[in-house]
Amino acid sequence: MITNFSIEIPCLHRIHQGSPRVNHNISHKIGMSVELSDLIIRLDSLNSTATSRGYADNSVLITFDDGWSDVLSLTDYFRQAKKLQPVLFLTHDQILGNSRLLPLSRLYAWCDHWSVDINSIPELGITREGLKSLSENLQHSILDDLEIPKTNSSAQVLGTEEIEKLVDEGWIIASHAHDHHDMRFDKDEQLLQGLTQARIEIERAGGEPWLAWPEGRCTMRTCNIAKQAGFTKQFGLDIESGNVSHPDLITRQIWS
Ligand SMILES: [Zn+2]
Repeated sequence: MITNFSIEIPCLHRIHQGSPRVNHNISHKIGMSVELSDLIIRLDSLNSTATSRGYADNSVLITFDDGWSDVLSLTDYFRQAKKLQPVLFLTHDQILGNSRLLPLSRLYAWCDHWSVDINSIPELGITREGLKSLSENLQHSILDDLEIPKTNSSAQVLGTEEIEKLVDEGWIIASHAHDHHDMRFDKDEQLLQGLTQARIEIERAGGEPWLAWPEGRCTMRTCNIAKQAGFTKQFGLDIESGNVSHPDLITRQIWS
């Protein structure tokens, strides 16, 4: 596949239609949900630019992190936007066939349900930044202690059958790592083992050996370990990993 890296590569999470509905409020507030018609205007613009520059079909990557089922609203769109190639970075849970919410998403869902202001979260003795530094299991156990409801299966997250349908439509699936946390401080051996497992699992699921760093965060050290684990492309975020210049690292822009 020819991939064009001389054009902006967006990173998207949630998509809402019209005003954000209840379960999109927090995501929208923290810049992780875009309005569908606004998004299509921006995607059209990328598609037109790629056409005018003579880029190959499916060469402009449009990436989606965390596997939200909101992306289903774009299935028809991508059939006709010939230059664009959607890529889903799936969580470890999703690759194993589970559709529970990631810990922070679980927290946001609770905030949305009870109209809790995200800025009041420190009153619970936790912070978003603090949670991001812990493993998914630890984050979940902290939320358990706070009696924030578990969501073992959420319709907001893509299930296996939906993922398979998108793959049939030509969407690429790739890895969002073996755990969703800031991996910059993980020990070498632990990181290599986890990422190698993640790379094996995504290839077994028919995906590309590409890695989107959780939280968009990485360092030269972690990028070298991901390469060693067999990933051929790595994706960061400009606001999080802008000063890392590993040859395999592709920088994306969050669209919000
Ligand atoms: Zn993520």
